[in-house]
Amino acid sequence: MSRIPWSVVTDTAFHRVLNGSMRGRRIGVLSMHTSPLDQAGTGDSGGLNIYVRELAASMALSGIDCDIYVRRTSREVPEIVELQSGVNVIQIEAGPFGLEKNDLPAVSDIWAEKVAESLGRRPVDALHAHYWLSAVVGHQLKHKFDLPLAVTFHTLGKIKSIAGEHEPAERIRSEDSVIGCADVVFASGNVEADQLTSLYDTPPNRIEILTPGVDRSLFKPGSQKEARALLGMDDRPVLLFVGRIQALKGLDVAIEALPLIQNSSAQLVVVGGLSGDKGAEVYSDLEARVTLYGLQSRVRFIEPQPHHLLPTYYQAADICLVPSRSESFGLVALEAAACGTPVIASDVGGLKDNVLNGSTGLLVNERDHKSFAGAVDKLLLQPELRHSMGQNGSQRAALHSWEMGAKTAIEAYGRLISRELVFCA
Ligand code: UDP
Repeated sequence: MSRIPWSVVTDTAFHRVLNGSMRGRRIGVLSMHTSPLDQAGTGDSGGLNIYVRELAASMALSGIDCDIYVRRTSREVPEIVELQSGVNVIQIEAGPFGLEKNDLPAVSDIWAEKVAESLGRRPVDALHAHYWLSAVVGHQLKHKFDLPLAVTFHTLGKIKSIAGEHEPAERIRSEDSVIGCADVVFASGNVEADQLTSLYDTPPNRIEILTPGVDRSLFKPGSQKEARALLGMDDRPVLLFVGRIQALKGLDVAIEALPLIQNSSAQLVVVGGLSGDKGAEVYSDLEARVTLYGLQSRVRFIEPQPHHLLPTYYQAADICLVPSRSESFGLVALEAAACGTPVIASDVGGLKDNVLNGSTGLLVNERDHKSFAGAVDKLLLQPELRHSMGQNGSQRAALHSWEMGAKTAIEAYGRLISRELVFCA
């Protein structure tokens, strides 16, 4: 199994080393339940959307075209949207526009049929499916067209169940079945790779580590003072949470930690929107806690922000909090680090790979607000420690580029195209 790549390959260097056999190929990217055109940080849109968009963009720069297939959810957006040269988002109508994620299995066959029609007209050399719903479709299309299938699950049903989420049995069955036939499964780090082998019996030689990246031209250190002035923030310490408001993200832990923090002026800024059928319930519960602890002047909810505006929020913050119950990677932790902001995260899942405990931030026990408050105190009381962690984080983030991710993906597709496909057991 390949491990996290540690050498930085610049875009130009990568172009030189790109295997000529892949240049001019086209990949069919399947993202049925959410589109890279959607606002991230709310609803079903988050890290997956950024991953799909950035990976496709980097692959296109290397001469590999990507057709990204999504389910059409409105007539306002044209059927085909060119994100950049070589990257097209193709919207395929299947079922009513307003369907929830849980309703999508019912329309996945019709979506698969229509994607197949489009693939007949615009052939691809390999398929890359994202999330289990698209993986199921990818599996059908693999057999129909005899194409290699790569899958990135982003989250795994068995892991979410362990974290206390109710996941349909169909999801677990489907993940097992797709894994039995996928030619490559991309994991975001060693922790996810281990989960794929221990919980799903994925053959290790079919797992590739594709570490998500961060766009360092946007996400970089900057003046905290200027960032706060731009955002109209005062000089109280800022703890930042960025992401979807759903139980799994553990925002309750951050709110419960706030009254325990020694510096009683510290504020919590939350950037993101409701997600999932329980999103509104989770939000009311958080609001009730804010009122219960009298934190109204210390907690601020800000609506989801366009991705390119987030660097200013990370730069304005003293600490980024990622108190998730479960996380396959946690792009937010990487983006904060890239901006030179130390991260305090739960010691779970991909965050174990993503945050270096004691170096780029602190990893604390899952869902323990007292430990979170202790960790925040430790960093707020030591500006030099925050500064050095920020520097370490930003240096480490430089090792995680989308160009590297694209290189891993392209090399994997290249190998798959030239070898026999895996067949269902
Ligand atoms: N995000 C954004 N705007 C927001 C909130 C979040 O663009 O208002 C982006 C954020 O920058 C990150 C992604 O959404 O790239 C969240 O990814 P992460 O892996 O942290 O969580 P996920 O959504 O995959 O659970």
